[in-house]
Amino acid sequence: MSTIDGLRERIAAAKNRAEPGPAARVVLVPTMGALHAGHLSLVRRAHARGGIVVVSIFVNPLQFGPTEDLASYPRTLDADVAALAAEGVAFVFAPEVSTMYPDGAADTRVTAGPVAALLEGAVRPGHFDGMLTVVTKLINIVGPDVVVFGQKDAQQVFLVQQAFADLNMRTEIEVVPIVREPSGLALSSRNRRLEPTEIEAALALSAALAAAVAAAPDGLQAAQVAAHTILAAQPLVKLDYLVVVSPHDFQPVAAGFTGPARMLVAAHVGSIRLIDNEAIDLGSAPA
Ligand code: AMP
Repeated sequence: MSTIDGLRERIAAAKNRAEPGPAARVVLVPTMGALHAGHLSLVRRAHARGGIVVVSIFVNPLQFGPTEDLASYPRTLDADVAALAAEGVAFVFAPEVSTMYPDGAADTRVTAGPVAALLEGAVRPGHFDGMLTVVTKLINIVGPDVVVFGQKDAQQVFLVQQAFADLNMRTEIEVVPIVREPSGLALSSRNRRLEPTEIEAALALSAALAAAVAAAPDGLQAAQVAAHTILAAQPLVKLDYLVVVSPHDFQPVAAGFTGPARMLVAAHVGSIRLIDNEAIDLGSAPA
């Protein structure tokens, strides 16, 4: 579908044509396709940051475990290309697996920091190494000034920021807030695989986070109880983790922690695994 050399030539030509300054800035939005309004908000932010917006669509086998949903991950390339054209995106990079991994897999990989063993990484061993490897490859292919990520994948954002600092990457990271349905449900490509009753149950994730945020002035325990109460009321929701982490090191906070933090939730709803998160400002427990 897309060759690396062809893409590089077209980007170089666009840079040559552009006025120096923001119009010549290259901005990359990495995605796995099955695009929704959350992805499109990243694209709009990309357009606000530079003139040459490149959206990659690649379901990266390296970041899926052997028992995960690589084969059934939704693929809607024609609709994605049309949605990106409507957003004025001139550069869509949708490589074949054999283009990205001509030797079958990358022997050389980027190893994520120790936070990659927690939370999503505990359930998905190797996921973040696979993600960082493909992000690094995409950056080396596209040569962007800015790369845009969604806050929806909070642990990914943390690990990308850490990797870019550790590896002296020159690309700036832009993070875009989570886009939600009016119901509160965080948009996800996997939502389209939910049955109507499962969608109803999935609302418990964002509702639990909202309840925790509301209870947060009364402290960590109050916030956790508020969230657990909502999740436990939904039999279709099988909780994987509900945790509050420090924004500085992404480690779970200890009892008595106060101040800004982030609550993260992951759960299976039916066979679909969903994640969500929200900033939370923890007060001290009432005396
Ligand atoms: P994915 O296609 O799931 O790999 O997502 C591609 C990018 O879109 C990632 O940076 C995600 O964090 C971001 N993204 C996915 N869903 C949302 C959402 N609901 N709001 C904001 N960003 C999102």
